[in-house]
Amino acid sequence: MIRVNDLTDEERARYAWQISTPDIGETGQRKLKSARVLITRVGGVGGAAAYYLAAAGVGKLVLAHAGEIRPADLNRQILMTTDGIDQLRVDSAARRLRELNPNVEVQTVNNNVTADNVAGLVKEVDLVIDAAPVFEERLALNTQIVRQRKPMVDCAMYDFDAQLTTILPGKTPCLACLFANFPTHWKREFPVFGAVAGVVGTMGAVEAIKVITGIGQPLAGRMLIANLREMTFRTMNLQRNPQCSVCRGV
Ligand SMILES: [Zn+2]
Repeated sequence: MIRVNDLTDEERARYAWQISTPDIGETGQRKLKSARVLITRVGGVGGAAAYYLAAAGVGKLVLAHAGEIRPADLNRQILMTTDGIDQLRVDSAARRLRELNPNVEVQTVNNNVTADNVAGLVKEVDLVIDAAPVFEERLALNTQIVRQRKPMVDCAMYDFDAQLTTILPGKTPCLACLFANFPTHWKREFPVFGAVAGVVGTMGAVEAIKVITGIGQPLAGRMLIANLREMTFRTMNLQRNPQCSVCRGV
């Protein structure tokens, strides 16, 4: 009997170069195949994460991102295409991912994370990649992943600066531990080179692969802080806030 997550010959061939990673093997590949990941949103950061998770053979990707492609998206949102301007972003993203890897199931949600949809979206997956550009979405995701005990890779960038951490509810600080007060000066539009966003999203994909397969040391309780202008990388240890309104008692 063939189990659902057994690999086909086509998949063994497709993933051969990563299956040869000593602590991955076919066992790790089957874990990737059985994994379901929510990515919100699939712009400069999330699009890169989605592309590499599709390449890696994650079984199901749920993409949440509202709206149509605008010309100003195209310097960074690498899953969007010029001929898709004025068409839905998630449709372009899903098409590009399926072109790369038809084995991956792609589910699209033409909406950003909101208080109304966040619980249902998180419930459908095993792991979340947070690439949302606004803090309200990040906080809504944070509350739900803590409530549902799901890991979340939190990717953030501004200009040439990048921050990355992986939240494991009950083990690491959550976003609300780190940011008691969210910035009020935040602008929806901010400086972005696609290459910088892509670095952050790609590293987010690496974190997701590690958490799903159980290899390496994810950025659990640590934050990677990268300055790509100076090309410096450092990590700082993070502390839980015992009074945190979201993860206290978890
Ligand atoms: Zn917390």
